[in-house]
Amino acid sequence: MAQAAASEIKEIMSQHTRVLIIGSGPAGLTAAIYTARAQLRPIVIEGEPSSTTDQPGGQLMLTTDVENFPGFPQGITGPELMANMRAQADRFGADLRVTKVHRLDVMSRPFRAWLTDDIEPSITAEAVILATGARSLMMDVPGEDRLLSHGLSTCATCDGFFFRGQDIAVVGGGDSAMEEAMFLTRFASSVTVVHRRDSLRASKIMQERAFHNEKIHFAWNTQVREVLGEEKVTGLAVVDTVTGIERIMDVTGVFVAIGHVPNTTLVAHAIELEDNGYVRTGLGSFTTVDGLFAAGDVQDHVYRQAITSAGSGCIAAIDAERWLEAQGM
Ligand code: NAP
Repeated sequence: MAQAAASEIKEIMSQHTRVLIIGSGPAGLTAAIYTARAQLRPIVIEGEPSSTTDQPGGQLMLTTDVENFPGFPQGITGPELMANMRAQADRFGADLRVTKVHRLDVMSRPFRAWLTDDIEPSITAEAVILATGARSLMMDVPGEDRLLSHGLSTCATCDGFFFRGQDIAVVGGGDSAMEEAMFLTRFASSVTVVHRRDSLRASKIMQERAFHNEKIHFAWNTQVREVLGEEKVTGLAVVDTVTGIERIMDVTGVFVAIGHVPNTTLVAHAIELEDNGYVRTGLGSFTTVDGLFAAGDVQDHVYRQAITSAGSGCIAAIDAERWLEAQGM
Protein backbone atom coordinates (compact mmCIF):
# COMPACT_ATOMS: atom_id res chain seq x y z
CA MET A 1 0.00 0.00 0.00
CA ALA A 2 2.72 2.40 1.08
CA GLN A 3 4.58 1.65 -2.16
CA ALA A 4 1.47 2.30 -4.28
CA ALA A 5 0.92 5.62 -2.52
CA ALA A 6 4.53 6.62 -3.16
CA SER A 7 4.28 5.84 -6.87
CA GLU A 8 1.03 7.82 -7.09
CA ILE A 9 2.78 10.83 -5.56
CA LYS A 10 5.64 10.46 -8.05
CA GLU A 11 3.17 10.33 -10.96
CA ILE A 12 1.48 13.50 -9.76
CA MET A 13 4.90 15.17 -9.60
CA SER A 14 5.51 14.56 -13.33
CA GLN A 15 3.66 17.14 -15.36
CA HIS A 16 2.03 15.91 -18.57
CA THR A 17 1.86 17.98 -21.73
CA ARG A 18 0.87 17.28 -25.30
CA VAL A 19 3.84 19.25 -26.68
CA LEU A 20 7.21 19.78 -25.10
CA ILE A 21 9.53 22.19 -26.91
CA ILE A 22 13.22 22.10 -26.08
CA GLY A 23 15.08 25.26 -27.07
CA SER A 24 14.28 28.97 -27.29
CA GLY A 25 15.98 30.25 -30.41
CA PRO A 26 13.87 31.33 -33.42
CA ALA A 27 12.87 27.69 -34.09
CA GLY A 28 11.75 26.88 -30.55
CA LEU A 29 9.92 30.16 -29.98
CA THR A 30 8.17 30.07 -33.37
CA ALA A 31 7.06 26.50 -32.61
CA ALA A 32 5.86 27.83 -29.23
CA ILE A 33 3.84 30.66 -30.84
CA TYR A 34 2.16 28.27 -33.28
CA THR A 35 1.42 25.44 -30.83
CA ALA A 36 0.21 27.90 -28.18
CA ARG A 37 -2.14 29.53 -30.68
CA ALA A 38 -3.38 26.03 -31.55
CA GLN A 39 -4.39 25.65 -27.87
CA LEU A 40 -1.83 22.89 -27.24
CA ARG A 41 -0.45 24.65 -24.15
CA PRO A 42 3.20 23.80 -24.91
CA ILE A 43 5.86 23.68 -22.24
CA VAL A 44 9.04 25.36 -23.51
CA ILE A 45 12.34 24.53 -21.85
CA GLU A 46 14.41 27.56 -22.72
CA GLY A 47 17.86 26.51 -21.51
CA GLU A 48 20.05 28.14 -18.88
CA PRO A 49 22.63 30.90 -19.17
CA SER A 50 25.59 28.58 -18.56
CA SER A 51 28.18 30.04 -20.93
CA THR A 52 28.56 32.53 -23.76
CA THR A 53 28.06 29.73 -26.28
CA ASP A 54 24.99 28.21 -24.67
CA GLN A 55 22.12 30.34 -23.42
CA PRO A 56 18.37 30.93 -23.70
CA GLY A 57 17.46 32.66 -26.96
CA GLY A 58 20.20 30.83 -28.84
CA GLN A 59 22.84 32.26 -31.12
CA LEU A 60 20.89 35.44 -31.90
CA MET A 61 21.55 36.54 -28.32
CA LEU A 62 25.18 36.82 -29.44
CA THR A 63 24.41 38.70 -32.66
CA THR A 64 24.50 42.44 -33.15
CA ASP A 65 22.38 43.83 -35.94
CA VAL A 66 20.03 41.52 -37.81
CA GLU A 67 19.41 43.26 -41.12
CA ASN A 68 17.77 40.48 -43.09
CA PHE A 69 14.86 39.34 -40.93
CA PRO A 70 11.78 40.39 -42.95
CA GLY A 71 9.57 42.99 -41.29
CA PHE A 72 12.34 45.12 -39.80
CA PRO A 73 13.42 47.55 -42.54
CA GLN A 74 15.83 49.34 -40.22
CA GLY A 75 17.18 46.08 -38.77
CA ILE A 76 16.83 44.88 -35.20
CA THR A 77 19.34 43.57 -32.66
CA GLY A 78 19.43 39.81 -32.04
CA PRO A 79 18.47 40.07 -28.34
CA GLU A 80 15.57 42.43 -29.17
CA LEU A 81 14.25 40.06 -31.83
CA MET A 82 14.37 37.14 -29.39
CA ALA A 83 12.68 39.18 -26.64
CA ASN A 84 9.86 39.97 -29.10
CA MET A 85 9.43 36.32 -30.08
CA ARG A 86 9.42 35.27 -26.43
CA ALA A 87 6.79 37.90 -25.53
CA GLN A 88 4.66 36.70 -28.44
CA ALA A 89 4.84 33.05 -27.27
CA ASP A 90 4.06 34.17 -23.72
CA ARG A 91 1.04 36.17 -24.91
CA PHE A 92 -0.57 33.02 -26.34
CA GLY A 93 -0.01 31.02 -23.16
CA ALA A 94 3.20 29.05 -23.79
CA ASP A 95 4.63 27.82 -20.47
CA LEU A 96 8.20 29.18 -20.72
CA ARG A 97 10.79 27.88 -18.27
CA VAL A 98 14.40 28.96 -17.86
CA THR A 99 15.94 25.59 -17.12
CA LYS A 100 17.55 22.68 -18.94
CA VAL A 101 16.51 19.18 -19.93
CA HIS A 102 19.15 16.90 -18.41
CA ARG A 103 17.82 13.69 -19.94
CA LEU A 104 15.21 12.77 -22.53
CA ASP A 105 13.68 9.36 -23.16
CA VAL A 106 12.04 9.07 -26.58
CA MET A 107 12.14 5.26 -26.65
CA SER A 108 8.96 4.79 -24.60
CA ARG A 109 5.54 6.48 -24.58
CA PRO A 110 4.74 9.04 -23.44
CA PHE A 111 8.18 10.64 -23.89
CA ARG A 112 9.88 11.54 -20.62
CA ALA A 113 12.07 14.54 -19.78
CA TRP A 114 14.14 15.13 -16.66
CA LEU A 115 14.87 18.69 -15.52
CA THR A 116 16.66 17.48 -12.39
CA ASP A 117 18.70 14.47 -11.26
CA ASP A 118 15.56 12.84 -9.76
CA ILE A 119 14.75 9.27 -10.70
CA GLU A 120 11.24 10.24 -11.79
CA PRO A 121 10.87 12.42 -14.90
CA SER A 122 9.75 16.04 -14.45
CA ILE A 123 7.65 16.13 -17.60
CA THR A 124 5.92 13.55 -19.78
CA ALA A 125 4.92 14.53 -23.31
CA GLU A 126 3.06 13.06 -26.27
CA ALA A 127 5.18 15.01 -28.77
CA VAL A 128 8.56 16.71 -28.49
CA ILE A 129 9.92 19.45 -30.73
CA LEU A 130 13.69 19.47 -30.51
CA ALA A 131 15.04 22.96 -31.23
CA THR A 132 18.31 22.85 -29.33
CA GLY A 133 20.30 24.67 -32.01
CA ALA A 134 24.05 24.62 -32.42
CA ARG A 135 27.00 25.99 -30.48
CA SER A 136 30.35 27.56 -31.33
CA LEU A 137 33.20 25.35 -32.48
CA MET A 138 36.49 25.88 -30.70
CA MET A 139 40.00 25.68 -32.20
CA ASP A 140 41.19 22.97 -29.82
CA VAL A 141 44.67 24.44 -29.37
CA PRO A 142 46.75 24.89 -26.19
CA GLY A 143 45.78 27.93 -24.12
CA GLU A 144 42.24 28.14 -25.49
CA ASP A 145 40.42 26.64 -22.50
CA ARG A 146 42.59 28.45 -19.96
CA LEU A 147 42.11 31.86 -21.56
CA LEU A 148 38.40 31.60 -22.39
CA SER A 149 36.85 34.72 -20.82
CA HIS A 150 40.36 36.06 -20.12
CA GLY A 151 40.92 37.72 -23.46
CA LEU A 152 39.53 34.86 -25.55
CA SER A 153 35.86 34.99 -26.47
CA THR A 154 33.27 33.57 -28.86
CA CYS A 155 30.98 36.59 -28.60
CA ALA A 156 31.91 40.07 -29.80
CA THR A 157 28.55 41.49 -28.70
CA CYS A 158 29.12 40.27 -25.17
CA ASP A 159 32.80 41.09 -24.76
CA GLY A 160 33.80 43.62 -27.44
CA PHE A 161 33.50 46.54 -25.04
CA PHE A 162 36.43 45.21 -22.96
CA PHE A 163 38.85 45.56 -25.86
CA ARG A 164 38.68 49.30 -26.30
CA GLY A 165 41.90 50.65 -27.89
CA GLN A 166 43.49 47.21 -28.23
CA ASP A 167 44.91 45.17 -31.12
CA ILE A 168 42.88 42.00 -31.42
CA ALA A 169 42.33 38.99 -33.72
CA VAL A 170 39.28 37.23 -35.09
CA VAL A 171 39.79 33.63 -36.20
CA GLY A 172 37.70 32.35 -39.13
CA GLY A 173 36.75 33.23 -42.69
CA GLY A 174 32.94 32.95 -42.69
CA ASP A 175 30.12 35.43 -42.20
CA SER A 176 30.41 35.12 -38.42
CA ALA A 177 34.08 36.11 -38.52
CA MET A 178 33.32 39.13 -40.74
CA GLU A 179 30.43 40.19 -38.55
CA GLU A 180 32.50 39.87 -35.39
CA ALA A 181 35.43 41.74 -36.97
CA MET A 182 33.24 44.64 -38.11
CA PHE A 183 31.50 44.94 -34.78
CA LEU A 184 34.83 44.88 -32.93
CA THR A 185 36.19 47.84 -34.91
CA ARG A 186 33.83 49.98 -32.82
CA PHE A 187 36.16 49.34 -29.88
CA ALA A 188 39.52 47.95 -30.98
CA SER A 189 42.41 49.90 -32.56
CA SER A 190 42.89 47.12 -35.08
CA VAL A 191 41.28 43.77 -35.88
CA THR A 192 43.23 41.11 -37.74
CA VAL A 193 41.19 38.34 -39.34
CA VAL A 194 43.23 35.14 -39.08
CA HIS A 195 42.15 32.74 -41.80
CA ARG A 196 43.64 29.38 -42.71
CA ARG A 197 43.18 29.83 -46.47
CA ASP A 198 43.72 32.61 -49.02
CA SER A 199 40.05 33.32 -49.71
CA LEU A 200 37.04 33.86 -47.49
CA ARG A 201 33.98 31.67 -47.13
CA ALA A 202 31.86 34.69 -46.15
CA SER A 203 29.16 36.09 -48.45
CA LYS A 204 30.30 38.71 -50.96
CA ILE A 205 28.51 41.60 -49.24
CA MET A 206 30.15 40.81 -45.89
CA GLN A 207 33.55 40.41 -47.56
CA GLU A 208 33.21 43.79 -49.26
CA ARG A 209 32.31 45.50 -46.02
CA ALA A 210 35.28 43.93 -44.23
CA PHE A 211 37.71 44.78 -47.05
CA HIS A 212 36.55 48.41 -46.98
CA ASN A 213 36.96 48.78 -43.24
CA GLU A 214 40.37 50.35 -42.66
CA LYS A 215 40.69 48.95 -39.15
CA ILE A 216 40.43 45.35 -40.44
CA HIS A 217 43.56 43.52 -41.65
CA PHE A 218 43.91 39.97 -42.91
CA ALA A 219 46.43 37.27 -42.01
CA TRP A 220 45.93 34.82 -44.91
CA ASN A 221 46.99 31.16 -44.91
CA THR A 222 47.46 31.41 -41.18
CA GLN A 223 46.64 28.73 -38.64
CA VAL A 224 46.62 29.30 -34.88
CA ARG A 225 48.96 26.94 -33.01
CA GLU A 226 48.54 28.28 -29.48
CA VAL A 227 46.87 31.08 -27.54
CA LEU A 228 49.57 32.72 -25.45
CA GLY A 229 49.33 34.21 -21.97
CA GLU A 230 49.05 32.94 -18.41
CA GLU A 231 46.19 34.93 -16.90
CA LYS A 232 45.32 37.07 -19.92
CA VAL A 233 45.85 36.75 -23.65
CA THR A 234 49.20 38.23 -24.70
CA GLY A 235 49.43 36.86 -28.24
CA LEU A 236 48.85 34.11 -30.75
CA ALA A 237 51.43 31.59 -31.94
CA VAL A 238 50.58 31.07 -35.61
CA VAL A 239 52.01 29.22 -38.59
CA ASP A 240 51.92 30.13 -42.26
CA THR A 241 50.26 27.12 -43.92
CA VAL A 242 52.17 27.72 -47.19
CA THR A 243 55.70 28.48 -45.99
CA GLY A 244 55.54 26.71 -42.61
CA ILE A 245 57.05 29.81 -40.97
CA GLU A 246 55.94 30.30 -37.38
CA ARG A 247 55.52 33.69 -35.74
CA ILE A 248 53.91 35.44 -32.80
CA MET A 249 51.05 37.88 -33.34
CA ASP A 250 50.93 40.55 -30.65
CA VAL A 251 47.25 40.72 -29.77
CA THR A 252 45.52 41.12 -26.43
CA GLY A 253 42.20 39.68 -27.52
CA VAL A 254 41.05 36.73 -29.64
CA PHE A 255 37.56 36.07 -30.94
CA VAL A 256 36.91 32.56 -32.24
CA ALA A 257 34.33 32.46 -35.07
CA ILE A 258 34.95 29.18 -36.90
CA GLY A 259 31.48 27.67 -37.09
CA HIS A 260 29.16 25.54 -35.04
CA VAL A 261 28.20 22.02 -33.91
CA PRO A 262 24.59 20.89 -33.39
CA ASN A 263 23.39 20.25 -29.84
CA THR A 264 22.20 16.66 -30.17
CA THR A 265 23.35 15.11 -26.87
CA LEU A 266 19.78 14.52 -25.66
CA VAL A 267 18.81 12.39 -28.67
CA ALA A 268 22.02 11.16 -30.31
CA HIS A 269 21.61 7.63 -28.91
CA ALA A 270 17.99 7.32 -30.00
CA ILE A 271 17.59 8.76 -33.50
CA GLU A 272 19.36 8.86 -36.84
CA LEU A 273 21.80 11.69 -37.42
CA GLU A 274 23.41 12.86 -40.65
CA ASP A 275 27.09 12.00 -41.17
CA ASN A 276 28.02 15.51 -39.99
CA GLY A 277 26.10 15.05 -36.72
CA TYR A 278 22.97 17.06 -37.54
CA VAL A 279 19.56 15.49 -36.87
CA ARG A 280 18.19 13.72 -39.94
CA THR A 281 14.74 14.96 -40.85
CA GLY A 282 12.63 13.56 -43.65
CA LEU A 283 9.61 15.39 -44.96
CA GLY A 284 9.10 18.57 -42.90
CA SER A 285 10.39 18.13 -39.36
CA PHE A 286 9.79 14.37 -38.90
CA THR A 287 12.75 12.53 -37.35
CA THR A 288 13.27 8.77 -37.28
CA VAL A 289 11.28 8.60 -34.02
CA ASP A 290 7.51 8.94 -34.32
CA GLY A 291 6.31 11.98 -32.36
CA LEU A 292 9.77 13.59 -32.17
CA PHE A 293 10.15 16.62 -34.43
CA ALA A 294 13.31 18.65 -35.05
CA ALA A 295 13.55 22.29 -36.07
CA GLY A 296 16.21 24.94 -36.60
CA ASP A 297 19.98 24.65 -36.53
CA VAL A 298 20.00 21.25 -34.82
CA GLN A 299 18.81 19.81 -38.17
CA ASP A 300 19.90 22.47 -40.68
CA HIS A 301 23.53 22.66 -41.71
CA VAL A 302 22.80 24.36 -45.01
CA TYR A 303 20.78 27.55 -44.52
CA ARG A 304 21.27 28.35 -40.81
CA GLN A 305 19.50 31.71 -40.87
CA ALA A 306 17.18 33.19 -38.26
CA ILE A 307 14.36 33.29 -40.78
CA THR A 308 14.83 29.68 -41.99
CA SER A 309 15.08 28.56 -38.39
CA ALA A 310 11.84 30.36 -37.51
CA GLY A 311 10.23 28.84 -40.63
CA SER A 312 11.25 25.34 -39.60
CA GLY A 313 9.86 25.99 -36.09
CA CYS A 314 6.53 26.77 -37.75
CA ILE A 315 6.77 23.57 -39.82
CA ALA A 316 7.49 21.49 -36.70
CA ALA A 317 4.53 23.03 -34.85
CA ILE A 318 2.16 22.22 -37.72
CA ASP A 319 3.63 18.70 -38.09
CA ALA A 320 3.24 18.08 -34.34
CA GLU A 321 -0.29 19.46 -34.28
CA ARG A 322 -1.42 17.26 -37.20
CA TRP A 323 0.40 14.23 -35.81
CA LEU A 324 -1.33 14.63 -32.42
CA GLU A 325 -4.67 14.99 -34.15
CA ALA A 326 -4.05 11.83 -36.21
CA GLN A 327 -3.22 9.95 -32.98
CA GLY A 328 -6.42 11.25 -31.39
CA MET A 329 -4.42 13.02 -28.65
P1 NAP B 1 31.12 28.88 -41.55
O1 NAP B 1 30.45 29.53 -42.70
O2 NAP B 1 31.11 27.41 -41.44
O3 NAP B 1 32.62 29.39 -41.54
C1 NAP B 1 33.57 28.90 -40.63
C2 NAP B 1 34.94 29.47 -40.97
O4 NAP B 1 35.87 29.06 -39.97
C3 NAP B 1 35.48 29.00 -42.32
O5 NAP B 1 36.11 30.07 -42.97
C4 NAP B 1 36.47 27.91 -41.92
O6 NAP B 1 37.58 27.82 -42.78
C5 NAP B 1 36.96 28.37 -40.57
N1 NAP B 1 37.35 27.25 -39.70
C6 NAP B 1 36.63 26.14 -39.38
N2 NAP B 1 37.31 25.35 -38.52
C7 NAP B 1 38.49 25.98 -38.29
C8 NAP B 1 39.60 25.68 -37.47
N3 NAP B 1 39.65 24.57 -36.70
N4 NAP B 1 40.63 26.55 -37.47
C9 NAP B 1 40.59 27.67 -38.23
N5 NAP B 1 39.56 28.03 -39.00
C10 NAP B 1 38.51 27.18 -39.04
O7 NAP B 1 30.53 29.38 -40.15
P2 NAP B 1 29.89 30.82 -39.74
O8 NAP B 1 30.72 31.93 -40.21
O9 NAP B 1 29.63 30.69 -38.29
O10 NAP B 1 28.52 30.88 -40.52
C11 NAP B 1 27.55 29.84 -40.36
C12 NAP B 1 26.29 30.17 -41.18
O11 NAP B 1 25.62 31.28 -40.60
C13 NAP B 1 26.59 30.54 -42.62
O12 NAP B 1 25.58 30.01 -43.43
C14 NAP B 1 26.54 32.04 -42.62
O13 NAP B 1 26.17 32.58 -43.86
C15 NAP B 1 25.47 32.32 -41.56
N6 NAP B 1 25.72 33.63 -40.91
C16 NAP B 1 25.15 34.74 -41.49
C17 NAP B 1 25.36 35.99 -40.92
C18 NAP B 1 24.74 37.21 -41.55
O14 NAP B 1 24.24 37.11 -42.66
N7 NAP B 1 24.71 38.35 -40.88
C19 NAP B 1 26.19 36.13 -39.80
C20 NAP B 1 26.76 34.99 -39.25
C21 NAP B 1 26.52 33.74 -39.83
P3 NAP B 1 37.42 27.29 -44.29
O15 NAP B 1 36.76 28.40 -45.04
O16 NAP B 1 38.81 27.03 -44.69
O17 NAP B 1 36.58 26.04 -44.19
